[in-house]
Amino acid sequence: PKLRVALMGLGSYATRVAEAMKTCQSAVLTGIVTGTPAKIPVWKEKYALADKNIYSYETLGELKNNPDIDVVYVITPNSLHHTHVIQVAATGKHVITEKPMADTAKHAEEMIKACEKAGVKLLVGYRMHFEPYTREVIRMLRDGEMGTLMHVDNYMGFRIGDPTQWRLKKDLAGGGALMDVGVYCLNAARYLTNEEPLWVTAQETKTDPVKFKEVDETITFQLGFPGGVIASCATSYNVNLERLYAVGTKGFVEMSPAYSYGPIKGRTHKGPLNEPVVTHQTLQMDGMADIILNGKTMTPAVDGYEGLRDMKIIDAIYESIRKKGVKIQLG
Ligand code: NAD
Repeated sequence: PKLRVALMGLGSYATRVAEAMKTCQSAVLTGIVTGTPAKIPVWKEKYALADKNIYSYETLGELKNNPDIDVVYVITPNSLHHTHVIQVAATGKHVITEKPMADTAKHAEEMIKACEKAGVKLLVGYRMHFEPYTREVIRMLRDGEMGTLMHVDNYMGFRIGDPTQWRLKKDLAGGGALMDVGVYCLNAARYLTNEEPLWVTAQETKTDPVKFKEVDETITFQLGFPGGVIASCATSYNVNLERLYAVGTKGFVEMSPAYSYGPIKGRTHKGPLNEPVVTHQTLQMDGMADIILNGKTMTPAVDGYEGLRDMKIIDAIYESIRKKGVKIQLG
């Protein structure tokens, strides 16, 4: 059987996921949860959805009586993931939530608890974990092909447009560039080193205090890992650039673009990386079907604990900034 998925929050990313799922082998879109009635006829026709699989935020509790939906994929603004995941878990359905998992580590912990209590799985939409270039780089590092890792330098940013969007509002976004795209650099630093950082220091820059009144515009942060690696990371809503760089005693990897929808480009000391160019979300949803339906385990993980680890570090980055860049020890 295929994993039957309902999408919650039919914005731009949900649209991308729905399109990508058309070519999935193990997952199929069967339902939606939306607060915008005008979207219903469009989605119904495009994806051949049955009327009984269409929910609003008010009726989503009724999902518990629906045998045709296995999992709800929450693709709403960041600060709503917490409430939405807990609501879905209460219906007994599995949950996938978009990155960042939540707006705080405390909320991420509550989401994990709610899903464990309900006996449902909780996954986070870390699509890079399924992406072939990223997986090849992780393999090379784990197999020692770059020797001992010495340094990591990651950047992810883009120039944000519309000043009225939710991404610039603290109550919906939780934070700015760090929450939205800095999480890619942070998550990559963890899967490149295969370690959890011991400490973090961070700095913030704002060139436009009006536009970025509520959320961060540019943040740089440094993570200290047990093996001695320092990952130097930066994220911004001001510069279109994405880069992953890691150097070891025997070689290096550089990917740019490194985190967007692709094609990803990269090279190592051995030459250009040549991996299949795929639709990330297709692979992700097939992979998540295997995790949810067949209990497959995945390294690096895409579960709630993986999301929580990133959220704890994000909390610590903001704490370091509030305390003028002091070193925050991570538990
Ligand atoms: P979007 O603005 O295009 O869509 C958000 C959707 O949430 C809209 O359909 C909106 O109607 C709905 N929504 C429900 N309640 C809302 C409320 N109270 N206020 C505002 N909107 C509400 O945003 P998006 O770009 O699709 O981002 C949604 C989530 O997906 C975010 O968490 C974002 O970080 C994540 N995302 C992930 C990726 C990725 O590559 N993994 C890419 C883009 C976005």
